[in-house]
Amino acid sequence: MSRCSKRPIQSTCRAPTCAAPTCKPASIVPGLLVFILAVMCWPALVGLSACYAQDLTPYRDVASDPQDRQGQTLPPHSGRQSMSLQQACFRPQDLTARSGENQPQKHNRTFDKTEPGRELVAFSPALDRLRGAIRRVNLKPGQKLIALTLDLCEQNGEIAGYDGRIIDYLRRENVKATLFVGGKWLRSHEVRTRQLMSDPLFEIANHSAAHRNLRLLSGKRLHEEIAAPQRAYEAIHESFSQHQCVRNAPAQWSSIPKRMSLFRFPFGACNKVSLDAVNDAGLLAIQWDVSAGDPSPNQSATAITREILRATKPGSIIIAHANGRGFHTAEALPQAIPKLKAKGYKFVTVSELIAAGTPEIVATCYNSKPGDTDRYDNLATAFRKDLASRRGNAKGGASTGKKSKAWNATVKPGP
Ligand SMILES: [Zn+2]
Repeated sequence: MSRCSKRPIQSTCRAPTCAAPTCKPASIVPGLLVFILAVMCWPALVGLSACYAQDLTPYRDVASDPQDRQGQTLPPHSGRQSMSLQQACFRPQDLTARSGENQPQKHNRTFDKTEPGRELVAFSPALDRLRGAIRRVNLKPGQKLIALTLDLCEQNGEIAGYDGRIIDYLRRENVKATLFVGGKWLRSHEVRTRQLMSDPLFEIANHSAAHRNLRLLSGKRLHEEIAAPQRAYEAIHESFSQHQCVRNAPAQWSSIPKRMSLFRFPFGACNKVSLDAVNDAGLLAIQWDVSAGDPSPNQSATAITREILRATKPGSIIIAHANGRGFHTAEALPQAIPKLKAKGYKFVTVSELIAAGTPEIVATCYNSKPGDTDRYDNLATAFRKDLASRRGNAKGGASTGKKSKAWNATVKPGP
């Protein structure tokens, strides 16, 4: 470890400059020793003093603060390789959940336009043996690996939430997860995206641009739903790479994928055309065999826990939500996860799960049985009918503001 190596701003950190203002050992060490060690910036002091905590401050997410970004003068490889990328770039208090952040902001169209065109990182179409919809993975007997997946869907006309309570819990308990993020969500939560990207617990994957039913799209519109999130991710990866703090964790940075390689269909609905389009774009289509059912407000934490414990088996892929629309997920996971761990299950990312065994692949997408996601094909029709019905009621002075029967019959909460 280099001398006073946790100092980000002063580049050389040689005595006497390293003593002030950010590297003070404060009052926790007796006076004379403080003075001597601070002046000399003795290496052992680094681990004992308050220097560490104070020095995290300049490493906060600098891109959210242009003035700070311009102020960063840290040279590369300043001897802090032992610090994680996340520690180097974010203060602990910036990582934790914020009150109200899980609530979607309705009628906010700030991010409705897709990511501008940019050349994508080179890729190859999915291998033949991995084409199709991956539901789970068959493992060797005795292997008890499972993958928790959390969707962060965001449609046009809103900014979806970020349920930091879930992410905080997973970090506390060291539980890996794969996060399927919408392209819109990536751009509307850029700081959170960088935080998640920098965390080795999490794998980030594509959940389409604006959560449309890809069974109903074709041509350019279908292509855009798949490619726009790739552009958004790659743009954020590129801009993050230019942050000074990244230079202090070069090994970990180089392990962060430059592109997303997994895809989840909105509503879990696909057809052959959209499935081929996803695989041709170099993405594996990931479904699930265990559903938390959490998009329904009526699904209690107890019910989510019970369902996860009932259905999970070695090689399972579990789906839940962390965009504010997994209504009781934040309470359920702290109940379910310790019980799964107690049964001997180990949480891995979806990519790790696939690498560990043989994926179970089917030719179509569904929730629990083939055809059960086809009902989402009626979503657009039901919406138009619902709108017309409510407008008609409004003209007649009888609008109730409630969803019509047509809407309720076809549009139930789904992935
Ligand atoms: Zn979704």
